[in-house]
Amino acid sequence: MSAREWLDKDFYGELGVSSDASADEIKKAYRKLARENHPDANPGNSAAESKFKAVSEAYGVLSDPEKRKQYDEARRLFGSGFGGGQGGFGGFGGGAGTGGAGGFDLGDLFGGGAGPRPGGGGAGGLGDLFGGLFGGGGAGRRGGTAGASRPQRGSDVETEVRIDFAEAVRGATVPLRLSSPATCLTCHGSGSKPGTRARTCSTCSGAGLVTRNQGAFAFSEPCPDCRGRGQIIDDPCPDCRGEGVATRTRTLTVRIPSGVNDGQRIRLAGQGEPGRNGAAAGDLFVVVHVNPHRVFGRSGDDLTVTCPVTFPELALGTTLTVPTLDGKVSLKVQPGTASGRTLRVRGKGVGRKAGGSGDLLVTLQVAVPSKLDDAAAEALRSYAEATADHDPRAEWDELLGR
Ligand SMILES: [Zn+2]
Ligand SMILES: [Zn+2]
Repeated sequence: MSAREWLDKDFYGELGVSSDASADEIKKAYRKLARENHPDANPGNSAAESKFKAVSEAYGVLSDPEKRKQYDEARRLFGSGFGGGQGGFGGFGGGAGTGGAGGFDLGDLFGGGAGPRPGGGGAGGLGDLFGGLFGGGGAGRRGGTAGASRPQRGSDVETEVRIDFAEAVRGATVPLRLSSPATCLTCHGSGSKPGTRARTCSTCSGAGLVTRNQGAFAFSEPCPDCRGRGQIIDDPCPDCRGEGVATRTRTLTVRIPSGVNDGQRIRLAGQGEPGRNGAAAGDLFVVVHVNPHRVFGRSGDDLTVTCPVTFPELALGTTLTVPTLDGKVSLKVQPGTASGRTLRVRGKGVGRKAGGSGDLLVTLQVAVPSKLDDAAAEALRSYAEATADHDPRAEWDELLGR
């Protein structure tokens, strides 16, 4: 913001008051306009936003008696014509440093103390004037912190995949189709048509931001010329229209490690959205859903299975054939094994990251027939008679003291 632009401002006009308005009138006018144009009340309305900034800026100067006096004086000194913009300043020998040939030395005029200046004096004097007046000068001019040209890491992307139980146990390689912003392949992210190059924006010197430091208010805005990018692309890439990023459908092959649990998130470093200006890409997170199995369950690294058995198998002992995920194993059941007992088959569970495998846990559960034919019922009655002396609940009387 040059001093000239400063004087182009009509703070009284912004607030809609006359130049001899009282402090009270100024305050009232400001409050009304600020309320009407406040960004909270006008979301997305850029006209209201700039009006809000303008009235805030005007009030920042006019509400301070000292600043107002100096502003008034500057207006008076530079003539009534300055409202017309450049014209008012023409007489001062060019504010932009074209040479101090103008009839005025503002350094002298405003007591800058530096005496007559060689070349460019006019501009220097004004800079001093307003630097001193509004307490900032050049200090905040490039105060922007988030210039768009700074490297910016790509966003993380999250997606989901559904796999079968066995795939979760063994690990799987699954293809994943992802539609996401990705570096444009045509321009490799530069945004410029291949064979051309972007140039640094001269307005913001590539910072992407311009900061107006005025009075008590400092406004950082995206540079209007490069729209905050810091670079001007004269020949945009035809495929991404200069964005450098195009929506791309990628097919990734994702390696799901063995032993993944339902709901687990797998991180694929660098497979998220591409970074800007050479920064690293984000990560891809894949949330894995595991379809349940009809027979097997999981308990950490162990596979679980419930094995229905008959009463005679438990009472007399047997060798069971039990399924595993890969095939089957033989499992010896000792005579007199209780129903509900869990037997462990080593190494037939889920592969571990560190190597080795969990176990298969086989829970034995007596299956009671819902119907018996006569012969079976007769045999069971005989069995009951033969074991009448044995009361399976005898322990209760002892334990409960009855
Ligand atoms: Zn710019
Ligand atoms: Zn492109």
